[in-house]
Amino acid sequence: MILDKFSLEGKVAIVTGSNTGLGQGISLGLAEAGAAVAGVYRNDAGETEAMITKSGGRFFGIKADLKSIAPVNDIIDNTVDKYGRIDILVNNAGIIRREDSINFTEKDWDEVMDTNLKTVFFLCQAAARQFIKQGEGGKIINIASMLSFQGGIRVPSYTSSKSGIMGLTRLLACEWAKDKINVNAIAPGYMETNNTINLRNDPVRSKELLGRIPADRWGQPSDVAGPAVFLASSAADYVNGYTLAVDGGWLAR
Ligand code: NAP
Repeated sequence: MILDKFSLEGKVAIVTGSNTGLGQGISLGLAEAGAAVAGVYRNDAGETEAMITKSGGRFFGIKADLKSIAPVNDIIDNTVDKYGRIDILVNNAGIIRREDSINFTEKDWDEVMDTNLKTVFFLCQAAARQFIKQGEGGKIINIASMLSFQGGIRVPSYTSSKSGIMGLTRLLACEWAKDKINVNAIAPGYMETNNTINLRNDPVRSKELLGRIPADRWGQPSDVAGPAVFLASSAADYVNGYTLAVDGGWLAR
């Protein structure tokens, strides 16, 4: 049955930034498809945990600050201690800093690049080592952006980090496909989360952006759940190194 290939029953997924926005939408989707979720959070994992356990799913919170790579090995070890294995890694946690490039600071450059790109690479590496040890492959999904494809304005470190994510996703797919590891990315369009509060509160930018989205609405966290389940499942076994836009048609315009 083709739908069986989309099931994540018996799988274990790590999702970073699991308590808000897209990370919450992805965590709920993976859990509904059957995966046990290890949710990495910085401030509070309570809401996502309550939503997953209420519907009979399994969730385990790991508190970590992903601004540095210090917690990477503990995230893997704690998940293996709790659930015995890892099958899926979703690198979703990310930050953005907005400022004219002419005034952009080193701090805003480093914090964004460290969180959005450096930590993502080392989490991919640590997960892949675990996948190889287990011998059954695994799935990695990195969260990219429209700014993996486009320049944007006033977000130089964010655009650099997300463009880097698309390249890194391709490179890791090339190196690890032989180990049955799939590394893909999801590039969300303009989504209604904390990440876009400033844009949505700016009446001029908000109107401009909405007017350019063919779907005529901002995306919701639930919009990324289905694509994440697909890429995490064996239905996507031959999809590798690809960045899938989930953007209401933004890039098609
Ligand atoms: P969000 O609600 O701000 O989510 C960001 C998540 O990352 C939060 O859960 C946050 O945890 C976590 N995080 C940030 N820095 C962290 C750190 N140092 N350590 C641990 N966790 C950290 O916004 P979102 O839109 O859902 O963002 C999720 C991903 O989607 C990001 O990579 C973002 O760049 C990407 N994205 C978003 C859009 C959009 O339109 N919203 C579009 C394209 C791509 P805390 O809440 O605990 O700080």
